[in-house]
Amino acid sequence: MNEETVIFSHELPATPWNPEKQDIEDAKIQVAMIGFCGCWGCHLSFLDMDEELLGLLEKVTITRSSFTDLKRIPHHCTIGFIEGGIANDENIEVLEHYRENCDILISVGACAVWGGTPAMRNVVPLEECFREAYIDSPTAVPGAKKTIPYHNDIPKITTKVMPCHEVVKMDYFIPGCPPDGQAIFKVLNDLVNGSEVDLPADVNRYD
Ligand code: SF4
Repeated sequence: MNEETVIFSHELPATPWNPEKQDIEDAKIQVAMIGFCGCWGCHLSFLDMDEELLGLLEKVTITRSSFTDLKRIPHHCTIGFIEGGIANDENIEVLEHYRENCDILISVGACAVWGGTPAMRNVVPLEECFREAYIDSPTAVPGAKKTIPYHNDIPKITTKVMPCHEVVKMDYFIPGCPPDGQAIFKVLNDLVNGSEVDLPADVNRYD
């Protein structure tokens, strides 16, 4: 681990409703989580840490979680936990925001690491994907007007689904679909304790 990239303290104003509790939370390592083009299975693996999650939460606080799906981090964080590949322009912009605001970014799961299942569309022209999804879909309502949705507020799909490291520098990779909860725990636990991340070979594999 690059020691220069790890910051363990943050100065935040105490919130008026419970300043003592807020001070305790602010002193912890701040972790922000986000899901891009994936299925949330990797986040469920995070919860699979079971009771070890409780021990971890004594040292870290979840500043942003995918369960709220807020796209902005309110302040600088130590660790960014990234699920999913990059499939539209909003994913790119939010990932860049995480890179700017996290000391350490972790690609969690096959989709973040190499594109995963969503990247199966990479071998099909985008126009064909849209046609299959919206025009020729077997689930299209018979007789209904078939149209490919377009609006300025809808994120624009990228031609290919990309792994996160093709957009920004990623610091660590946890393979698996989804990764085992213990693998996620090992990486986070090593980081919060200032140890070198050392995933066992039987976990750190891509076959
Ligand atoms: Fe879902 Fe697997 Fe992708 Fe994780 S790696 S988001 S479990 S498809």
